[in-house]
Amino acid sequence: MTGKKVVIGGNWKCNGTKESVKELIETLNSAGDFPSNAEVVVAPTALHLGMAVDGLRKDISVSVQNLWKEPKAGAWTGELTVDLIKDFGINWAILGHSERRAYCGETPEIVGTKVKIALEAGMKVMACIGEQLSDREADKTMDVCKEQLDPIIAAVPSGAMDRVVIAYEPVWAIGTGVTATPEQAQETHEQIRAYLKTKIGEEAAQGVRIIYGGSVKGANCQELIKKADIDGFLVGGASLKPEFKDIIACSS
Ligand code: PGA
Repeated sequence: MTGKKVVIGGNWKCNGTKESVKELIETLNSAGDFPSNAEVVVAPTALHLGMAVDGLRKDISVSVQNLWKEPKAGAWTGELTVDLIKDFGINWAILGHSERRAYCGETPEIVGTKVKIALEAGMKVMACIGEQLSDREADKTMDVCKEQLDPIIAAVPSGAMDRVVIAYEPVWAIGTGVTATPEQAQETHEQIRAYLKTKIGEEAAQGVRIIYGGSVKGANCQELIKKADIDGFLVGGASLKPEFKDIIACSS
């Protein structure tokens, strides 16, 4: 971790009832002061976005979990475009999550297009990358990360890199309870930053927040956040629980 603000993202995925979301909002609202260097962002389902925007304390930002690959509202049944999202006061998007890559056919190019659309609309993005277990075992972690990073980097308009957060989420660690060790996560984060340096230069690469996702919990966040290149977390399962407050607190 460096002097940058730490990003703590909560990806609620396709979870929540009206009642449970109300409770979660109340829990977060009454969590006390957050560390001054924490930037807290939660991504509810599309159905719960309105509740979150209206109900959450103002130092918690709301994010969409996806957006459509065309910028303007229109005949896109079932989709959300950036102009609708921004009209709702939402300024963050999680893009390229591994579940969307795996189950919704999102290629690296589609993810790049969505990153471009979001950034051109002035939004901030958490762009997700990460390898499968078989890639890691075949020593291809960085090959996969580079393949996913290239269209993301190419999509960033001039001057917008400070609105890009890279979420490194090894697929084998997501929802499995198996977290990358702090050393494994740091090693890949360091390699991602080294690769970014070759693409966008030393200073810009140092400024990019690279956050880790994959079975982050209250119990393991302390050790992970100590690592030099881990600038926060994208949290799935634990972001639905009061434990998320402990993960936010660990950035102090
Ligand atoms: P997890 O999910 O924390 O439940 O492993 C992380 C993610 O998919 O962003």
